[in-house]
Amino acid sequence: MANKVEDLAAGAVDGLASQVRGNVILPRHGTYEQARKVYNAMIDRRPGMIIKCCDVADVIAAVKFASRQGLLTAVRGGGHNGAGLGVCDDGMVIDLSGIRYVHVDQATHMVRVGGGTTLGEIDHATHVFGLAVPAGIISTTGIGGLALGGGIGYLSRKYGLTIDNLIEAEIVLADGNVMVANEERNADLFWAIRGGGGNFGIVTSFKFQAHPVREVFGGVTLWPVEMTAEIMEWYDDFIQTSPNELNGFIAVLTVPGPPFPAPLHNKQFCGIVWCYAGDLVNADELFSPVRAKCPVFEHVGPMPYPAIQRMFDGLFPPGLQWYWRADFFDSLGPQARQVHEEFGKRIPTPLSQMHLYPISGAVGNIAKDATPWAYRHAKYAGVILGVDPDPANAAKLTAWCKSYWEALHPYSCGGAYVNFMMSEGPERVRSSYGSNYDRLAQIKRKYDPTNLFRVNQNILPATETAAVSG
Ligand SMILES: Cc1cc2nc3c(=O)[nH]c(=O)nc-3n(C[C@H](O)[C@H](O)[C@H](O)COP(=O)(O)OP(=O)(O)OC[C@H]3O[C@@H](n4cnc5c(N)ncnc54)[C@H](O)[C@@H]3O)c2cc1C
Repeated sequence: MANKVEDLAAGAVDGLASQVRGNVILPRHGTYEQARKVYNAMIDRRPGMIIKCCDVADVIAAVKFASRQGLLTAVRGGGHNGAGLGVCDDGMVIDLSGIRYVHVDQATHMVRVGGGTTLGEIDHATHVFGLAVPAGIISTTGIGGLALGGGIGYLSRKYGLTIDNLIEAEIVLADGNVMVANEERNADLFWAIRGGGGNFGIVTSFKFQAHPVREVFGGVTLWPVEMTAEIMEWYDDFIQTSPNELNGFIAVLTVPGPPFPAPLHNKQFCGIVWCYAGDLVNADELFSPVRAKCPVFEHVGPMPYPAIQRMFDGLFPPGLQWYWRADFFDSLGPQARQVHEEFGKRIPTPLSQMHLYPISGAVGNIAKDATPWAYRHAKYAGVILGVDPDPANAAKLTAWCKSYWEALHPYSCGGAYVNFMMSEGPERVRSSYGSNYDRLAQIKRKYDPTNLFRVNQNILPATETAAVSG
């Protein structure tokens, strides 16, 4: 049972405040209400204190204090997690938003970023050198949570997941010690953080391999939702046989309004968001089969890479209600396609959607046990998103997500991408790591035996018995 900040001895909090350069925010402070908010407005938690860290020393002080006082401890990177894992009730939030920087080494294409940096900040700093770090979409998402869970994006088929481009990390452990983890140093820890989430410590800095990506050819094509099953069948074949430079996630969605033309507004569609990161002279030829499928709307063309990364920022500002459900899929067969079409026709609110992200290509070229990310053989990471600004619609969008997921789950691989999950219990976490779970539990036992870092998709430290027999 964790202690509450409000029950700490008088002077304890002042003692911590004297050790940190950043801010210690308490419920009585004017900045508290804003500081406790996360991206998903469905999450309404009231931590006992928020430490806005400026540097590694602040993180060490906060970790040692939380551990000594027995506080429930949440770590906040970008605050985007659907399940709200960047905040907790009563305990301490270690907020990394003051540790945001990006340094690009032009000679080696290595990029060093602070643990609280957002994707948009990385794209901004790398694009000027014609480089990109493979990561996800929506520029306000934090690299911390995204990278530690895997990191799927437009460059995954060409360059792999974000973790496949992680070279090194600096980590504050549960005992306050700082370690560098890479292939040579603390290799077990380096293995575990490439998919195992925030379970093993607080990453204060990441070093990534970037790649030459300047302009891409991308955008959106739409077909009537009644064609979902047909378009998915064609897409499944097309994307899996296209060069790895071509990415495109398929979705069921509603066109919410401008900038789309008025006749499309508030209608449901099967859509594909494309991103081709190859030689642009080949783009038109590559897209000719897409055009041959006669989309009712097409808006594709050359654009700077950061532009496609930010394309949906305006649609999804912070402060909306979100409910997520997810699974991996190794096929997109007729029954699953029918489920998508059926639920696509019943999208409950204009911003609610389903996405299937292709993870073939470079993602699958890496062995299943080379990192904790166990579903490398899968073809798609799927996510069903119930989204709306109005809290009164929360029950409606949650019910749609759950029933859609239940109808689809029988056609899935059984586990999900941890970054697309809500808090769904230990068995779901175990099934999402599959055969890599036991090794993660052993490493958790070594680096965080008391499970200080448990506000996450939690991996329980292996027990003595499991450690001996394992
Ligand atoms: C709009 C939107 C778009 C998204 N798009 C994508 C996408 O394209 N691809 C994709 O793969 N995912 C995507 N995601 C999912 C995203 O990867 C997860 O939500 C992820 O958890 C976000 O990380 P964060 O740092 O912003 O979150 P937070 O809520 O701050 O943290 C999430 C978890 O990570 C831990 N954590 C964060 N930073 C650190 C750190 N530095 N050290 C240790 N632990 C840390 C936290 O403790 C918590 O458990 C998206 C999410 C949203 C809301």
